[in-house]
Amino acid sequence: MSKSATERLNEVQAEIEKACKIARRKPEEVTLVAVSKTHDAETIRPLLEAGQRVFGENRVQEAQDKWPALREEYPDVELHLVGQLQSNKAEDAVELFDCIHSLDRPSLVKALCKAFEKTGKQVPCFVQVDIGEEEQKGGCAIADLPALLEQAREAGIPIAGLMCVPPFGIEAAPYFALLAKIADDHELKGRSMGMSGDYSTAIMLGATHVRVGTALFGRRDS
Ligand SMILES: *Cc1c(COP(=O)(O)O)cnc(C)c1O
Repeated sequence: MSKSATERLNEVQAEIEKACKIARRKPEEVTLVAVSKTHDAETIRPLLEAGQRVFGENRVQEAQDKWPALREEYPDVELHLVGQLQSNKAEDAVELFDCIHSLDRPSLVKALCKAFEKTGKQVPCFVQVDIGEEEQKGGCAIADLPALLEQAREAGIPIAGLMCVPPFGIEAAPYFALLAKIADDHELKGRSMGMSGDYSTAIMLGATHVRVGTALFGRRDS
């Protein structure tokens, strides 16, 4: 039989601790974001029961359908948006999420500002960097990052740090190292990097937030 959610959570936490030990970091410096996209409440609940409180979703609508009810049971849940955000969903996203990992363009800075004003709530945002310079992927081009950061700061958006999704299927470490360097250059502490296949590597290279789905929930049906 397959492992229970608790066993998977324990394994991921043990891996995080191991990576922290090697890197001489404290496990408290790393936030495990359990990416629960495509999984229903019944699949998520065992992880909540096991004590996990930080979750990630990649679609606003899907999160709106799932999380309000779960939050009534677990009011201390922290919800992160890890997927691309359309400007017309900014207000819904701000209402529901506690952190956004995908700020990547000037129009979204504007939409988020408006949403902050309208809802009276501010949400910390990671600026997503297109670290592999891939055409079709989300994220701000490395060359455009200084201007976007300045615009976001001037607009009063709380910047949590930088986020990246490295190119698929090749060694991620150089991209994690590059994101960490760029974050250093801009004196940003937060680094949202690392997924199921590479979160240990990401932690050794300075990740503060790892976004782990498959290793906690099993494969997603697509
Ligand atoms: C789905 C997703 C993850 C989790 O990926 P796994 O490989 O299942 O751990 C992390 N980050 C983002 C942006 C995602 O969309």
